[in-house]
Amino acid sequence: MVTIAERLDNAYGRIEKAKQNCQFSETVKLLAVSKTKPIADIEAAIAAGQTQFGESYVQEAVDKVVHFKDNKALEWHFIGPIQSNKSRLIAENFHWVQSVDREKIARRLNEQRPNNLKPLNVLLQVNISGDDKKSGCHPDDVESLALFIHKCRQLDLRGLMTITEQTNDKQKQLQYFQQMRACFDRLKHQYPQLDTLSMGMSGDLETAITAGSTMVRIGTDIFGKRQ
Ligand SMILES: *Cc1c(COP(=O)(O)O)cnc(C)c1O
Repeated sequence: MVTIAERLDNAYGRIEKAKQNCQFSETVKLLAVSKTKPIADIEAAIAAGQTQFGESYVQEAVDKVVHFKDNKALEWHFIGPIQSNKSRLIAENFHWVQSVDREKIARRLNEQRPNNLKPLNVLLQVNISGDDKKSGCHPDDVESLALFIHKCRQLDLRGLMTITEQTNDKQKQLQYFQQMRACFDRLKHQYPQLDTLSMGMSGDLETAITAGSTMVRIGTDIFGKRQ
């Protein structure tokens, strides 16, 4: 059987290879997406040197953050849809939230982030394909939402995130990722401190890196298929 350490190694190898053929100089981070996976799998990834983890379901995620609270090297990212009645748990437990897509949620996270914690790192989620079923804000709303988050004292705007539809049309996929990079570059012109463009998953990380991703979110290829 292939171990989690070997799969992680393989994923970092794919990132490295994709970086060699791309025109962007930023390093690409790997977020290990451990949703639905047991503590033992996360421990195996930590033992292999992984420190950044992504989770999508609030209660499950908080249980894991609490379990690993003594390990200060770890960084937890919330990447799932946010219901407003769950925003407090996210504000109190996470280092990053990648799925902010409306003002109401940003306002709540800002109010609920405890003052003794550093500001919550925020990525604005963009629905780049304009697909109605997907979460994420419309590309036209990026600027005003970014300004709102920028003004929130307990939030630190770090960049953008997108989930693109899974398609076999690699050309279309590449175009969406390139549109995201262009959107990120425009925003970075206004807020030079932005450093994170989160896009690409197990199936399309090479395409995302070619287009200028700075963080890929990998679940299946590290921890195996989810139920
Ligand atoms: C589950 C999930 C991932 C990981 O997807 P894989 O295809 O398993 O690599 C990445 N990003 C988000 C937002 C997810 O919910």
